[in-house]
Amino acid sequence: MKKKSSAGYDVFFAITRYNNIKIAYSHDLYVQPDERKILQMKARVKIDELIGDDIRAHGVELDIGRIIRGWEERPGPTRMPGIGDLREWDHKLLKKYPPHYLPFCDLCCLCTMGKCDLSRGKRGACGIDMAAQQSRIVLLSASIGTATHTGHARHLLERLIETSGRDHHLDIGASVNLEAPNIRLVTGIKPITLGDLEDVLDYCEKEITQLLACCHTGQEGNNIDFESKVFHAGMIDHVAMEAADIAQISSLNFPKGDPEAALVDIGIGCLDPGKPSILVIGHNVAPSVEITDYMRDHGLEDAIDLAGICCTALDLTRYNNQAKIVGPLSHQIRFIRYGGADVIVIDEQCVRTDVVIEAEKVHAPVIATSCKNFQGLPDRTRDTVDSIVGDIISGKSTGAAILDPVKAGEVAVRLATAMFPKRRKFRAIPDEATVAAAAKVCGGCENCRRVCPNDLPLSEAIAAAGKGNLSLLGELYESCIGCTRCEAEGVCAKGLMPHTMILGASRIRMGKEKFRVRCGRGPIQDTEIRAVGGPIVMGEVPGVLGMVGCSNNPGSWKDVGFIAEEFLKRRYIVTTSGCAAMQLGMYTTEDGQGLYEAYPGTFDAGGLVNCGSCVSNAHISGAAIKIASIFARRQLNSNYEEIADYVHNRVGAVGIAWGAMSQKASSIAAGFWRLGIPVIVGPHGAKYRRMLLGRKDHTEDWEVIDARTGERVYAAPTPEHLFAVAETREEAMVLIPKLCMRPSDTTKGRSIKLNHYVDLHRKFFGVMPDDMHLFVRTTADIPVAMKDDIQKALRQTDWKEGDGRIPDPTLLPRLVRRGGGAE
Ligand code: SF4
Ligand code: SF4
Ligand code: SF4
Repeated sequence: MKKKSSAGYDVFFAITRYNNIKIAYSHDLYVQPDERKILQMKARVKIDELIGDDIRAHGVELDIGRIIRGWEERPGPTRMPGIGDLREWDHKLLKKYPPHYLPFCDLCCLCTMGKCDLSRGKRGACGIDMAAQQSRIVLLSASIGTATHTGHARHLLERLIETSGRDHHLDIGASVNLEAPNIRLVTGIKPITLGDLEDVLDYCEKEITQLLACCHTGQEGNNIDFESKVFHAGMIDHVAMEAADIAQISSLNFPKGDPEAALVDIGIGCLDPGKPSILVIGHNVAPSVEITDYMRDHGLEDAIDLAGICCTALDLTRYNNQAKIVGPLSHQIRFIRYGGADVIVIDEQCVRTDVVIEAEKVHAPVIATSCKNFQGLPDRTRDTVDSIVGDIISGKSTGAAILDPVKAGEVAVRLATAMFPKRRKFRAIPDEATVAAAAKVCGGCENCRRVCPNDLPLSEAIAAAGKGNLSLLGELYESCIGCTRCEAEGVCAKGLMPHTMILGASRIRMGKEKFRVRCGRGPIQDTEIRAVGGPIVMGEVPGVLGMVGCSNNPGSWKDVGFIAEEFLKRRYIVTTSGCAAMQLGMYTTEDGQGLYEAYPGTFDAGGLVNCGSCVSNAHISGAAIKIASIFARRQLNSNYEEIADYVHNRVGAVGIAWGAMSQKASSIAAGFWRLGIPVIVGPHGAKYRRMLLGRKDHTEDWEVIDARTGERVYAAPTPEHLFAVAETREEAMVLIPKLCMRPSDTTKGRSIKLNHYVDLHRKFFGVMPDDMHLFVRTTADIPVAMKDDIQKALRQTDWKEGDGRIPDPTLLPRLVRRGGGAE
């Protein structure tokens, strides 16, 4: 017997006999012959009744084998690549962009033969040298980041399969036929259902295990091979992020590539102090969904404020537009101390590890919902809601770990209602008079400033506060990242708490902090790629920026918005995600508009595209892959090297992670590097320990192969770097247009890009760039409005007019169409 399941799949039912054993079973092959073929088979067999001479069983389930979905495109050379399969490609990139290491310390203390001094060319007891050790740390960081996204994806997927079913059809929008560019490119799987994503994550988990194994003592010893593995970690990271996001978009009905996704509230002042409130912190949206559902089911949507910090907040607003975003990671301590939360629900990643201590200061209970992050709270998953709520309200316990999201949702809502009248929004922030009085004892020793990662002038501000002027302290509010290092034990001999004093001086403004951010739209539509792919590849859209990462800014959070606005005005496409997306919402233009109100959400010139949370970064890399696949019709299936070669040489994209902080930020960046997309970080990014910098004076590094003829052609340093630190926002803004140049730029495209590069260089540094002559191929490349100035500058160099041929650029000899023997 055969019938369709709810997801439209063929389900077989049968009764059979084997050796006198009667088996009544059904199996679900997930087969739609018109679009898939079975390469290997995986079947879930449910045996309703098993009766034999010596056996009788009911409800037995067996998983057999594996189905790998095939699709119409033939697989390319690297299906589910292992850690060595793309080594050749990685080495090509690393030859162009050799690693420059910035060791934090000269020692290695990873094993018990150490610690070993690796300075001045010395090797450790295991034989490792400084370069390999630094790249091993980079690999560890990227592997942690990848494992974190993959672990998140796995937990989320398990939950979504529980609620929606393994055969739940993936639907991320009618205009998004290429639903999973990273997954299809790397694994060769065209995922149709949630269950298919399990195969994808199986692959990711296997690769992460191998990557971590490479960090063991006496394993990899060559820094370039370590770096290749870093790239591998990054590629896997984007696959896992994509799996997580398309699963939640499909199952939770998030916006599906909608450029007009709703504008939602962001800012501490968006919460109503007259209402109970729940604060969610972290990245896994599952518990927040249950809180929302419980509130909806009990008619409490208007009675309780539900707000979040970090990516859980962004994903929550994709599910529930009424929810509010408090702000990025830097807002965590300040909001807790502000007392705005009557209960705090934490899940995973980027949660302050002192959250329970901070919450106790304002009498707010904490509910932990992830086994990755118990925070020492007792596991009450199996207890009744009444007993958990009762114990917390009575003060018997300060919180609980509840790993059942439905139960955690109910507990959170009931606790918020019960705690609200007891707490009365109790705060741990002093008023202005208390700050001024305390400031009088400051001895001006500058210890607090010395430990501040942003070198904020705390002692001057505190001295002014002691004289009754709190404005200098208030001015530090936007540049303080809330790390609390200035309040650590032993920093201030006078016992002052500089960070708390900043908050005291900013109390009133915190209550008025209100902005709007467009909630995450998810993927870029195929139609958008078709429309804009040509102008991007030819350079007529001057570039695509990916503004991503955390809130570990070197200065004001407004710098992120300042950078974005400049490039939006210049008609670049600005994509964003995570904490960076929030910071863009917290920026106001000169006209008093929010950035998301001033610029459309379309993936087009001048569009500001918020894809969503951290895991939505996969849509940004996915857009670059889609340009190669949809616009240029390059083979996608398991064809990583060719697609990366296309993206590197033609798609003028650059990532900016101005406030990058975490290991996840490093793995996200690594995923862009393997595609050949450059990434710029702010000054704190130097602590990632190495940069990938091109040498523009090495002419031979910048040759590409013209795929039409096989000839080697000098294509200038385009792009010049793969990973670079900018010390100031101005430096970053000059680097961006330069790193958007590509060998394939048409003369019109190169002229547009040069125009922005020269204009921004003159605007911020007052002079023409000294390397401009490298990027002018012929006089046709020179922007008309700058012709005289540029020609004058060119005459002062050894610039020579080129022959005007624009190559069909590639780094891969096998892509030469007429032979040519370029390598
Ligand atoms: S891993 Fe090598 S360098 Fe590090 S402590 Fe052990 S022996 Fe020394
Ligand atoms: S909390 Fe703010 S002021 Fe204090 S050290 Fe950190 S960044 Fe500096
Ligand atoms: S450490 Fe304390 S005493 Fe020294 S400048 Fe800072 S606040 Fe003043």
